[in-house]
Amino acid sequence: LTAPASDALLKNRKNAWVQLAGHPGSFAPAGPHTIWKKRMTKENNETVAYQALLHDAVKDLVPQFYREVYFNGDVFIEIEDLLQHFTNPSIMDIKMGTRTFLESEVTNPVVRKDLYEKMIKLNMDEPTEEEHEQKAITKLRYMQFREKDSSTASLGFRIEALRMAGEPPNTDLKKVKSRDQVKNKMVMFLEGNLEVMNKLIQRLQRIREKFAESKFFRNHEIIGSSLLILYDHHHHANIWLIDFAKTLPVEGIELTHESAWEVGNHEDGYLIGLENIASVSLGWNKF
Ligand code: ATP
Ligand code: MG
Ligand code: MG
Repeated sequence: LTAPASDALLKNRKNAWVQLAGHPGSFAPAGPHTIWKKRMTKENNETVAYQALLHDAVKDLVPQFYREVYFNGDVFIEIEDLLQHFTNPSIMDIKMGTRTFLESEVTNPVVRKDLYEKMIKLNMDEPTEEEHEQKAITKLRYMQFREKDSSTASLGFRIEALRMAGEPPNTDLKKVKSRDQVKNKMVMFLEGNLEVMNKLIQRLQRIREKFAESKFFRNHEIIGSSLLILYDHHHHANIWLIDFAKTLPVEGIELTHESAWEVGNHEDGYLIGLENIASVSLGWNKF
């Protein structure tokens, strides 16, 4: 993937591009202040979501959205590069919700070999005898396995990936599950930096307040979206909401974001995650 940004523009970037989660090659730095994210589906969910967010109570909590770009047969969104506000930042991607798949994704009965392979990499004993024979599982099976293996099912969020300043990203966090394990990872990530912790706790508080005001959140199912936490050695620290590729408007229902999911009610558990991150984070500075 090569965005047609001129060398002059790219030279003005403060940081090399760092991508924690997501498909390799689906992002490109576009200039000193923006990045391109490739659309992986036919639907333009993320563009529609970002356009609606431009006018919502949470507009300052998400990267600025600029436009949709067509380039070499692919479609991209151009959004604010959040790295630009930092110098060599430490970064954490927290995937929100008690469910990370869309209702429409789990009705597909097709069994997939790639997902079986992924499963046995994580736990050889997880597949049933029949699944071992087939060497293939459905997406629902894989997703529900992933969600009970991490803190997603129990806490409503999971640490998807993190990167300490100057180091390569760590995406091997799939087993971080209990409240204490999560807290320990957070404490390790924050390196005891009280100024940073206080800024992040304040930002979390602001996210909770804005969430309560947000019309967008009342009528959207938010699946697979993340909180992106960044801080650097200048004690700059902030949190944004990113990744709305699986955020869909829901007609005729107001979501609570905390009721249990049943097929058809679209509940995602986003608020459960937010409350749990807030309560875990109150313990940050007690270590
Ligand atoms: P997935 O669906 O697997 O979670 P994705 O392909 O939808 O991934 P995102 O989750 O949007 O992609 O982003 C992947 C990673 O790219 C993030 O974890 C983060 O490191 C980086 N990233 C995304 N958006 C931004 C941004 N606006 N500024 C800086 N970094 C970003
Ligand atoms: Mg993501
Ligand atoms: Mg995504």
